[in-house]
Amino acid sequence: MTRKLVTVRKVAAVHPIKGADRIEAVEVDGWTCIAGRGQFRAGDLAVFFEIDSFLPAGDPRWTHLADKFITYTGERGFRVKSARMRGQISQGILEPLDDFPEILAAWVDLEIRHGRREAERLLRETAFEGLLGVKKFEATETAVTATGEPAHKSDQIPMPEFIPRTDQERVQNLPDVFEKWGEEIFQETVKMDGSSMTVYFVRNDSPLMDKLAPLGTEGKQTAAQPNGRFDVCSRNVEKPESQGRYFWASAKKNSLPEKLSRLNRNIALQGELCGSSIQKNFEGFPLGFHDFFVFGAWDIDERRYMKPKETEDLVGRLGLKHVPIVGYHRLGDIARNVQEILARAEGIGINGKKREGIVLKQVDGRFSFKTISNSYLLKHGE
Ligand code: AMP
Ligand code: MN
Repeated sequence: MTRKLVTVRKVAAVHPIKGADRIEAVEVDGWTCIAGRGQFRAGDLAVFFEIDSFLPAGDPRWTHLADKFITYTGERGFRVKSARMRGQISQGILEPLDDFPEILAAWVDLEIRHGRREAERLLRETAFEGLLGVKKFEATETAVTATGEPAHKSDQIPMPEFIPRTDQERVQNLPDVFEKWGEEIFQETVKMDGSSMTVYFVRNDSPLMDKLAPLGTEGKQTAAQPNGRFDVCSRNVEKPESQGRYFWASAKKNSLPEKLSRLNRNIALQGELCGSSIQKNFEGFPLGFHDFFVFGAWDIDERRYMKPKETEDLVGRLGLKHVPIVGYHRLGDIARNVQEILARAEGIGINGKKREGIVLKQVDGRFSFKTISNSYLLKHGE
């Protein structure tokens, strides 16, 4: 699922903020953002710009933010971040739908083609960042070079399409999650703030072998195993052995090429690469420490994620590290709403530092979501 940054949403409720008479707190799905008093009422449709949206300076609708413009990838604009005003957290920017004639036009167009009811549903499912020139701000830009990503994007090979990209939806964007999944058992793990890493093994007798990019030619190719092909990817691209510095080092340190070769099945292990040179080492690992913390196993033949328990067992048998497991619980027993799960996300991580949050995965592996701690977002300026 690709993340939608700019969407049309319905205002759920509006609350006054203590000690502030010109602003109020507006709730849209699981998000709370601050808006001018009287600007919105419950039931209004509004345009929501989620945190990490980068709003273009060239759009006159953002002129009032000009003193906070920054330069990102060579362009001026405003980065939407979490903020706190008068003790109230504000996440995202909410604007009246009427200020966006291009979205109103898209709505009319949908209504002509699909009728009134369906048009509103489709409208609320559409991502409008492209239409409004909004980009995603990626804080990992600096980390990209640190992890050895080549400067030229064009010579990168995408991760094989038969393996899903790692991603998690934020609980704030899943308004009915507690109603829908409250009775189900979830695995709760600590969300680690490193770089997404995938290792895979494809057997020589698999038809998917033809879909893999040819191996490099320099030096010894660990990727070529006697019974198949092992390889390492970052979130989106293959990491050739000569370039994927910390990625490959952690794979080799764990003897992953040999272990997956011995396992002899078509599989991808997905996890977080963490250590002193990854991102800003928010987890606080000692200098020089890097490792791969598994959070998922994709069965390539069955085209499904293994169940969390099966993954745990496999990780144990292979002698690998798993992301920390908090436990297994019925979702409704640990939280009944967004506020409660946000409170739960606060806590410490693997090395005793404030953690980024938690990831909840239903026991059959069919569905999962993330809850990022608000204090972590505020602390790191996100
Ligand atoms: P984000 O880092 O906000 O893009 O959230 C999704 C990412 O969290 C995934 O792509 C993983 O790389 C990462 N992640 C870190 N810890 C976990 C975990 N315990 N379970 C699942 N994903 C995780
Ligand atoms: Mn992350």
